[in-house]
Amino acid sequence: MAQSRVLLENLARLVPGVIYQYRLYPDGRSAFPYSSPGMNDIYEVTPEEVREDATPVFGRLHPDDYDNVASAIGESARTLQTFYCEFRVVLPRQGLRWRWSQAHPERTEDGGTLWHGIISDITERKRADEALQVSNQRYRNLFDQANEGLVVMTTQGQIAEVNQAFAEMHGYSVEELSGKDIQYLDARHERALEDRAPIIQRLQNGEVVRFDVEHIHKDGHIFPLSVTTSLINLGGQSLWLAFHQDISARRQAEAEKATLEAQLQQAQKMESVGRLAGGVAHDFNNMLSVILGHTELALEQVSPGQPLHVNLMKIFKAATRSAELTRQLLAFARQQTITPRALDLNEMVEGLLELLRPLIGEDIDLKWHPAADLWSVKMDPSQIDQILTNLLVNARDALSDVGKITLETGNTTFDEGYCAEHRGFVPGEYVRLDVSDDGCGMDKETLSHLFEPFFTTKELGKGTGLGLSTVYGIVKQNNGFINVYSEPGEGSRFSIYLPRHAGKAAQAGTSDAAAAAPGQETILLVEDELAILELAATILERQGYTVLAAPTPGEAIHLAARHPGPIHLLLTDMIMPGMNGRDLAKSLLAGNPHLKSLFMSGYTAGAIGHHGVLDADLSFIQKPFSINDLAAKVRETLDRE
Ligand code: ADP
Ligand code: MG
Repeated sequence: MAQSRVLLENLARLVPGVIYQYRLYPDGRSAFPYSSPGMNDIYEVTPEEVREDATPVFGRLHPDDYDNVASAIGESARTLQTFYCEFRVVLPRQGLRWRWSQAHPERTEDGGTLWHGIISDITERKRADEALQVSNQRYRNLFDQANEGLVVMTTQGQIAEVNQAFAEMHGYSVEELSGKDIQYLDARHERALEDRAPIIQRLQNGEVVRFDVEHIHKDGHIFPLSVTTSLINLGGQSLWLAFHQDISARRQAEAEKATLEAQLQQAQKMESVGRLAGGVAHDFNNMLSVILGHTELALEQVSPGQPLHVNLMKIFKAATRSAELTRQLLAFARQQTITPRALDLNEMVEGLLELLRPLIGEDIDLKWHPAADLWSVKMDPSQIDQILTNLLVNARDALSDVGKITLETGNTTFDEGYCAEHRGFVPGEYVRLDVSDDGCGMDKETLSHLFEPFFTTKELGKGTGLGLSTVYGIVKQNNGFINVYSEPGEGSRFSIYLPRHAGKAAQAGTSDAAAAAPGQETILLVEDELAILELAATILERQGYTVLAAPTPGEAIHLAARHPGPIHLLLTDMIMPGMNGRDLAKSLLAGNPHLKSLFMSGYTAGAIGHHGVLDADLSFIQKPFSINDLAAKVRETLDRE
C-alpha cells in the first residue's frame, strides 16, 4: 500500500497537470480528498485548501463555463459515465487559461459519487485552434467571394470544393458540382485526361501552371476559360487549386480584331489590283478605239458579199467584246466616267426587269419587292444597269434551271456601332438593293476572292470573273457598300447599299443616239494618241465637218489662233501631257466665246472631277467609241443650246 502510494506521488509529479479524487456528497457539498501538487498550477490553490471543500476551485471557473462544468458533473454522477469537459478558468496570476478534465466516477457507500481523474492545461492547443479557425475563415471568405472561379480538387480531378463564382460561371449550384470529376465540365473529355499527366508533373515540381480549356455550361454552350493552377497541401493531402477565368469576351475581341485585319487586307488588295487593272485598261482602250474605228471604216468599203467582209466582221465583234471587258475593268478600277443624277431605284429596277427577264428564263421564279417610300440615290443610270445585270446573271448561274431569285429594295441606316464592326462602312442613310437566290451558294474560299477581277469558278468561256469586280468598283465609286451572305448549298444574298440622295429623283429617260445627221461645222480635234487623232479626223471629215487636228494642246491653241473662220466645237482628249482638256477649253473660250466642248476619255484619274464624277452639263464620250457613237455625240453637243 505504501509502495503504491510512492508510485502515485511520483507519477503525479510527472503528469503535466493534476491528478485528483473528487467527491460529491449526497447533501451537495464537494471536495478534492486528494489532489497532486499540480493543483498549484492548474487552479492556483494548494491541495490542502480544497481537501475539505472544493468551493475555491469553482470560484476560479470562467462565469460562462460554470454551468457547463456543473452539468457535466451532474450528468456523470447520475449515469456513472466518464466525465469529460473542456473549460476556461480565470486565475489570479495566469489570467485566462483553458483546462481539460477527464475522470472516472464510482458510487460511494453513502450514495454520493467519487471520481478519479486528471486535469491538464490545453491553453496552447486552444489558441492554435483559434488561430487556425481565423485563418480558415479568412481563406473561406477569399474562396467564396473571389470573382474568379475557384476549384479545389484531388490530383485525380475529383472536385472537393468550388466557389460561387465557379458554379455561376457554369450555370450550376455549388452543391451540384462538388464530388464531380472536373472532366465532366470539360468540352474535350479525352484530351482532358491526356493533358492532365504533364500538368500534374509540372505542378509537382512546384510550378504554377497556366493553360486554356473549354468547358460546357449547364445550358450546353461551350465557353473558353483560362486556368491558373498550383498544388497546395491541405491537412497532409496534396490538392489542386485552380483559378478559372471566363475569357469569352477576350476571345471575341481577338476574333473581331482578326476579322477587321482581314477586311483591311482585303481592301488593300482590291485597291492595288484596281490600280493595276485601271492602268492596263487605259492603254488597251486607246488601241481598241483604233482597231474598232478602222474596222468600221474598212467594213464600209467592203461589200457584204466579199469574203473579207466576214473577216472584218469577226474582228469587229472581237474588238467590241474586248471593249466591253475594258469597260468593266475601268468600272472596277473606279475610273469609269459617270454622269450621276437623282434616281428612283424602284423605277430603275422595274424598267430593267422587263429587259432582263428573258435572260433569267421561264423556270426561274423571279420575285420583286420594291419598298414603299424608297429614298432616292444619285447615280449614273448605266451603272445601275451594270450592277443589276451582273447580280442577276450570277444568281441565274447559281441556280440549276429551277429556283427562286428575289429582288428587294429598302431604306437602311447604319449607326456608329455597326460601322465600328464593319470596316469601311460609314454611318448614315442608305438605299439598299438585295438580290438573293436559293442556288448553290459559296464556300469561304470563293467568298474571299469574290470581287477580284478575273476570279471565276465558271468553266472557260462561261465566266470572265469581271461581273462582281465591276459591281464592286461601281458601288465604291458611289461611296456605297456591299454585303454578301452565303453558305454552300444555302443560296446567296448580295446587298448593295447606296448613299441616300437628299433631292427628288428625276424622271428616267434615255437619250439613245439615232444615226447622226451630217454636219458642216468646224471642229478643233485634240488628241495626243496619234492613231486616235487620225481615226477621229477621218470619221468626222466623212460626216462633212471641217477638222483642225492637233496632237497637243499647244498646237491646238496655235491652230485656233491662226484659223480665220469660226470654230464651233472643241473635241479633246481629257488627259494629255502639259495641259488637260478642261484647261484647254477654258483658254480657248477667251477667243471663241461660242465654242462648245466635247471631252473624250478612257479613264479619268481625277482630272475630270472627284472620283471621275462629271458635271452633268459637260459633254463627254467614253473611249473606245464607235463611229456612230462619236458622230451622234458631236451632233448632240453642237445642237445643244
Ligand atoms: P463570273 O460570273 O464571270 O464568274 P463574277 O465576278 O460575276 O464572275 O463572279 C465571280 C464568282 O463568284 C463566280 O464565278 C461564282 O463562283 C461566284 N458567285 C457570284 N455570284 C454568285 C451567286 N449568286 N451564287 C453563287 N456563287 C456566286
Ligand atoms: Mg458574273
